[in-house]
Amino acid sequence: MNDFQYLFSAQQVVFGPGSLSKIAEVTEQFHLKRMMLFTTKGFRTRGYVDSIENMLGERLVVAYDQVRPHVQDFQVREALAIAEEQQVDAVIGLGGGSAVGIAKAISLALEEKRTGGPAKAAFPTEQPLIPVIAIPTTYAGSEMTPVYGITHEQGTIKRKITVKDVKITPKLTIYDPELTLELPQGVTAGSGINAFAHCIEALYSITKNPLSTAAALGGIRSIGQSLVQCVVDGRSLAARTEMLKGSFLAGVALSNVDMGLHHGICHVLGGSAGVSHGDANSIMLSHVMRFNLDVTADELALAAEAMGLSTVGMSAEEAGASSADRVSEWVKQMNLPSRLRDVGVDKTDIPHLAKVAFESRTVQNNPKRIEHVKQLEQLLQAAW
Ligand code: NAD
Repeated sequence: MNDFQYLFSAQQVVFGPGSLSKIAEVTEQFHLKRMMLFTTKGFRTRGYVDSIENMLGERLVVAYDQVRPHVQDFQVREALAIAEEQQVDAVIGLGGGSAVGIAKAISLALEEKRTGGPAKAAFPTEQPLIPVIAIPTTYAGSEMTPVYGITHEQGTIKRKITVKDVKITPKLTIYDPELTLELPQGVTAGSGINAFAHCIEALYSITKNPLSTAAALGGIRSIGQSLVQCVVDGRSLAARTEMLKGSFLAGVALSNVDMGLHHGICHVLGGSAGVSHGDANSIMLSHVMRFNLDVTADELALAAEAMGLSTVGMSAEEAGASSADRVSEWVKQMNLPSRLRDVGVDKTDIPHLAKVAFESRTVQNNPKRIEHVKQLEQLLQAAW
């Protein structure tokens, strides 16, 4: 790992129980006067929107609380018209990857409207006209990344397109574990295993660097200590705090490296077979770790140590295999699905899914080269 690149994104991160109460103070430093909040109905019902409205006063000009999953193109059009009319100067995403994602989409679209030209960064450290503020409440990690997905619907066909641009990396992220105390078990487990997978794929990424490795190992440690406990006892503030710290580290690791086979295949399962991201992650991760083991044994052995497993006297392959075994145990403990057949994937679709995955750039960024589509078919058969 002697050659590497790293892009620092000029982000302020505020972390800690109760840190939402600092929102007025921290946004003041950015001289923001006309902010727009994106969130889901649940946060309105639980009183968080009122509380942010009270804290920001006139500086919050509009709250859009109808965010649907996976950033829908019609919602982006609707919200953009409101943002334009209200002359918004910053966007806040309060919620999971979907609320943060639509805030990112509006940031780029609004800049394009204002400037009349493409908003995409002309150079790697360019700053946005409309900064994104993220208040993450799941473990998905979007608050640290320069990426969002947008779902375009044409008739009955839905396509999710990924947009990547340094300017949409949030400039301010407020992590408040108290906001996660009511995160439902299913989203806790699914987005938690997703965060863990970000760490694993960062650890053996073909574009890893010393900082992504350090963040990934820290994330594995925190998530390993807390994820199952967050599912069993969601009201434990100590476990929720450790888990959110882990997902921050996972986001740091993810933000600067290419993901591999696991993420590529999870996107194919989501896009082409309708499997939720959390379910795809829980089913595929241990299979992909075992598939990659002969090429990534050293990194997976480090993962095993960070998970607190005893690896004394083991070869790197044995230690790495024990980390995959532990992931399978977690999936059982958290009642997550472990077979593709249980989440509606038809066995006869496997050759098609394998073919789509084989053509994915993310899959081809895997540290172990995928030479034949048959390798992917076998992997999916094993997970079926
Ligand atoms: P989500 O944002 O779709 O939220 C799922 C549900 O959980 C929603 O109904 C939401 O209201 C509810 N919820 C969220 N936080 C809650 C809380 N604290 N308490 C109670 N309810 C809460 O789910 P997600 O898993 O966070 O995000 C998934 C989306 O994010 C997908 O579209 C995925 O592709 C995207 N994603 C993006 C990145 C990135 O880097 N851009 C990374 C991971 C995922």
